[in-house]
Amino acid sequence: MSRIANLIGGKSVEATSGRSAPVFNPATGEQSGELGLSSAADVDTAVQAAKKAFPAWSTTAPLKRARYMFKFKELLEANADKVAQAISAEHGKTHSDALGEVQRGLEVVEFACGIPHLLAGEFSRNVGPAIDTYNDRQPLGVVAGITPFNFPAMVPLWMYPVAIAAGNTFVLKPSERDPSAALLVASLLIEAGIPEGVLNVVNGDKEAVDALLHHPDVKAISFVGSTPIAQYIYSTAAANGKRCQALGGAKNHMVVMPDADMEQAADALVSAAYGSAGERCMAISVAVPIGDKTADALVDSLLPRIQKLKIGPAADPQAEMGPLVTKVHQQKVLGYIEAGVKEGADLVVDGRGLKLQGYENGYFVGPTLFDKVTEGMSIYKEEIFGPVLSMVRARDYGHATKMINDHEYGNGTAIFTRDGDAARAFADSIEVGMVGINVPLPVPVAFHSFGGWKRSIFGDHSIYGMEGVRFYTRLKTVTSRWPTGIRSGVNLNFPSVN
Ligand code: NAD
Repeated sequence: MSRIANLIGGKSVEATSGRSAPVFNPATGEQSGELGLSSAADVDTAVQAAKKAFPAWSTTAPLKRARYMFKFKELLEANADKVAQAISAEHGKTHSDALGEVQRGLEVVEFACGIPHLLAGEFSRNVGPAIDTYNDRQPLGVVAGITPFNFPAMVPLWMYPVAIAAGNTFVLKPSERDPSAALLVASLLIEAGIPEGVLNVVNGDKEAVDALLHHPDVKAISFVGSTPIAQYIYSTAAANGKRCQALGGAKNHMVVMPDADMEQAADALVSAAYGSAGERCMAISVAVPIGDKTADALVDSLLPRIQKLKIGPAADPQAEMGPLVTKVHQQKVLGYIEAGVKEGADLVVDGRGLKLQGYENGYFVGPTLFDKVTEGMSIYKEEIFGPVLSMVRARDYGHATKMINDHEYGNGTAIFTRDGDAARAFADSIEVGMVGINVPLPVPVAFHSFGGWKRSIFGDHSIYGMEGVRFYTRLKTVTSRWPTGIRSGVNLNFPSVN
């Protein structure tokens, strides 16, 4: 069983709180590691290391900072398989899915390689007589990231490549449920030669998070996780004068119009609902066919696809869907299936009671499909974060868009149709941050930015892409005149060009 420590100033350092948490292999239910949980003092050690590194790092030429990112990218590519194995070992997702996660994280590193260009400012000559104005974006200082279990390598990579390339130093607090992949990826940036203290990793739970939220030397907090915690992080960070972007939970609807290619829509739905056992913030958890005829056709297309899915541990190369992350989470998802039955939804495919030979203690739940779900049911209103797809039959297009707009979450959504007009109207008016047109998982590429609306985000900056650059920098605007310029004498009026 491995002992999992912090990574501070480029070295592995044990947490000193005396508290620890078990880490499990979700496929077998066996404990695989013991994670030291950090105290406020451990967090302070990491913040001090980052603070010490900041003056030299922030004044290092952006081009040189980018070169570390190029090297990091090479190391990530060379170690992609190893990182994917570390993800699967503690998260449970299949190896090919984990490789996809590494690739999407790596793309943010590729984006950060362009930082000299991304930081270039603007210049205006002669804004007044012989006066020029220019601006540029400067780093904030020590910034921190707090990340969820479901993308243990990718979500940290949404944050620190951009933050660090922009000249900040960073403290990462990964999920305590699957910390090893985040630590492995961070160690690759250390191997790339990044100066000591530029990136630090502290493991822990609420105690470590609260220490970051209250630390006077932490200038900004990036958070990705569930909505109640995102709201807490945002309000606490703001109350402590910190910049904060806090991305929360989701309930993503996919509208299927009567003219959609039903086979394409069914493939997309099964992939987006059950991929990574539904533990994706962009998973489709609600299917919204328009009209009963479309709904019946969709169920007919979904059923054989769901029945064919192969569930198994990541060690099985044939497996398409793995277990849930923890026993507690498995029980929570099973509880929702129970609730759906009690609330009167039609359980078309029941994922309960799945037992895999040799993996009887794994946290597996089979793919589950509910039909005739209504908007008042808890399985509709709440985020389940498991392999449970709810079908809500919409009367018409207006009913579908109203239910999406009325939902508290607004992370992602999709529409499947052959009608360009309907698709365009949907994209224009829907109150959701990321929209797919015949694309079920519209996760923006690294040079765009990721973020939902409504209670799926707190703060005004989405993550990575140019929004990330803006979040991790502050604008400085300089107005300059040299002594040889025009001497205008004392003038108490507000400066303006007449
Ligand atoms: P979580 O909110 O339980 O945990 C996220 C982080 O917050 C972890 O590092 C955890 O240690 C910390 N944390 C948990 N409880 C805390 C508390 N009371 N005080 C302070 N810190 C606390 O989320 P999770 O279960 O790890 O991840 C799943 C959730 O994340 C889902 O809701 C999912 O939709 C969401 N998510 C959102 C996005 C997005 O981009 N919007 C992306 C991935 C995941």
